[in-house]
Amino acid sequence: MTEHYQHRARKRFGQNFLHDAGVIHRILRAIHAKPGERLLEIGPGQGALTEGLLSSGGTLDVVELDLDLIPILKGKFDSNANFTLHQGDALKFDFTSLNPAPNSLRVVGNLPYNISTPLIFHLLENASLIRDMHFMLQKEVVERLAATPGGGDWGRLSIMVQYHCAVEHLFNVGSGAFNPAPKVDSAIVRLVPHATLPHPAKDHRLLERVVREAFNQRRKTLRNTLKALLSGEQIEAAGVDGSLRPEQLDLAAFVRLADKLHEQTTAAPAH
Ligand code: SAM
Repeated sequence: MTEHYQHRARKRFGQNFLHDAGVIHRILRAIHAKPGERLLEIGPGQGALTEGLLSSGGTLDVVELDLDLIPILKGKFDSNANFTLHQGDALKFDFTSLNPAPNSLRVVGNLPYNISTPLIFHLLENASLIRDMHFMLQKEVVERLAATPGGGDWGRLSIMVQYHCAVEHLFNVGSGAFNPAPKVDSAIVRLVPHATLPHPAKDHRLLERVVREAFNQRRKTLRNTLKALLSGEQIEAAGVDGSLRPEQLDLAAFVRLADKLHEQTTAAPAH
């Protein structure tokens, strides 16, 4: 059979198309979509995962930026009543416009590496709508997402994503599974938003601020890097040893520091 369309992969859209049937099946098995579920695929490309997602019997919305891929996707999937195509930038896409029930949306994507982190944060703005997310990412990014305190991978990304989600590094994928082959290894990660936040901060923005300041100079002690925000006494009062470095602190300790900062910013002025 001749192909009607020939698409050349574009670097600026981060296009590395999956062609390894074994890897595609493994991803679909990990997602295990069922009839009636609400699925959302970011960057369907030429449809490597789309096909299997649709055959689950779920309803599938896809968001693709590259105009040249739109006719290819329409040609393959438009006849399926469960398929809806949105052309545009997933970073600007309003996920509430899909009207999903709370905790229902299952998000999937072999993501362009340059947008993966901002996209995860964009999706987490509506975490209450999301049941789970399965992403193919650069392996190194997955290691940072799934990191535990104490090691070099533990940092801003780990903390701010684990604040909202349970993270599972499912499996690695070598570059030969893609066309063209990327220069780096990839991995599949599962993110499941917590039904109830295990360590809720009084003000999420203050948590972001404390974590950013602390990791700006990750070799220095907390007493040093946080001194513009909290005194040594306040750090101790939050139950944190100020002589530690940021990578030694778990999420709960960062939340205690952020809440201490909140206490200070909301305290009545002294007379
Ligand atoms: N899912 C396909 C696969 O596995 O073969 C394609 C994966 S490719 C790594 C990433 C896809 O995301 C491309 O189709 C690209 O055009 C699309 N894309 C890039 N930036 C995007 C954005 N900001 N919003 C939506 N899609 C985007």
